[in-house]
Amino acid sequence: MQPNRYYTIMPDGTVKQVNPFTGTEVWAVAGRKNRPITNEQASGAKPIELHSPEDYCSFCPPRYFETPPEKSRLVQRDGRWDRIDALSPDRYFETEASFRRVGNMFEIVTLDYWRKNYAYKMPVQRQRWKEEYLANPAGLKHITDIVTYKLKQDGKTDEQIEKTPMTEKLALADAFFGGCHEMIIAKRHFREGATYDAELFSSGDMTPEEHFRYFALTVDAIRDITQVNRYVRYVSVFQNWLRQAGASFDHLHKQLVALDEWGASINGQIRMVREDPNVFNDYGANFAAHHNLIFAENDFAIAYAGIGHRYPTLEIYSRGQAGRPFEHQENEIRGVSELVHAIHAAMGSQISCNEEWYYTPFDAVYKMPWHVLIKWRVNVPAGFEGGTSIYINPMTPIELRDRLVPRLYRLRDEKKIAWIRIAEECRVDPNPLKYYLK
Ligand SMILES: [Zn+2]
Repeated sequence: MQPNRYYTIMPDGTVKQVNPFTGTEVWAVAGRKNRPITNEQASGAKPIELHSPEDYCSFCPPRYFETPPEKSRLVQRDGRWDRIDALSPDRYFETEASFRRVGNMFEIVTLDYWRKNYAYKMPVQRQRWKEEYLANPAGLKHITDIVTYKLKQDGKTDEQIEKTPMTEKLALADAFFGGCHEMIIAKRHFREGATYDAELFSSGDMTPEEHFRYFALTVDAIRDITQVNRYVRYVSVFQNWLRQAGASFDHLHKQLVALDEWGASINGQIRMVREDPNVFNDYGANFAAHHNLIFAENDFAIAYAGIGHRYPTLEIYSRGQAGRPFEHQENEIRGVSELVHAIHAAMGSQISCNEEWYYTPFDAVYKMPWHVLIKWRVNVPAGFEGGTSIYINPMTPIELRDRLVPRLYRLRDEKKIAWIRIAEECRVDPNPLKYYLK
């Protein structure tokens, strides 16, 4: 590969980029949209009527029964974080969940997909959980209610729902217990002290500790899915923030979707690793270092402005030797979480974005590093892009870097983010990613 193919600054300031991992061709024109990031109210924000406790949507705490049964919750008590698995439904309101892990009522890859294509069977412990849940009157009511809701959403009339036999309704509930499309839901809907509807609680509004717990629960969920369904080859993890990024709920949550393939993007990246084991350093971290795109790091992760993305994109890489999130030590997960958190905090809550996780698939023998991309959904690809396959990104990687750096310094001074090295403090040692080691 020839490095200068991927990143060229033209004399007029246009930055031509090709993503080394996807081949996406992108141009960015410097200064085209040079607005600083602020946390100012979006125009059109409306005052909210404050409710305590918050009950603005089905993900809010008083409405625990509007989501499928809880696989796990994290509870903060006596200075500890406790995980409670498969909580009995009559005890939902005895503790307050800081984070909850539940099935997605509207699965992308359904339980039936696994059943019909692979003869997948719910494992015994999940089957038992379902039976116990339904044997509990609160559980039976919960399941009947959400199945009814789901049938209504599917377009069934009240009469049709009435006539659906109970056995059929309860069979529909299997997906809530044994399905592999899940959500991790945060507690808050709006941020503390919010007065406007645009002041939603974002990843950056958490403390570094809360964000780490959110990450760790997600990592646990990936591992658990692989143990429940042996046909899973990859679990896609993402967070859509705000409607423009595809979020159907304003309330902060991550999603996990189990897949029976890796997808084209991971396939391509694994092929590259096979040809050049150091490719994620060569064309990722080292390349970013040479072009001064690295803007933050700690001992466990590094962050830089990405090249060749349709949207302004921040990339956060684990330095760890392990290729999968759940093979990382706790302090390594914390390190990745702290950089991701710092970036969300520096962006503020008003920028719509997708957070996407990438890592070594379960059945890959070639390792790629765990990394997280944060894509700002601030532009809409239009006709020019469709016709040329050249994408116009409204910001150059350098502009993106320079927008975050001053805010990172300020947040670090205010102790709102964990201690990280910023901009010129970064050591940028060669080959910082250690995934290539056996
Ligand atoms: Zn809510």
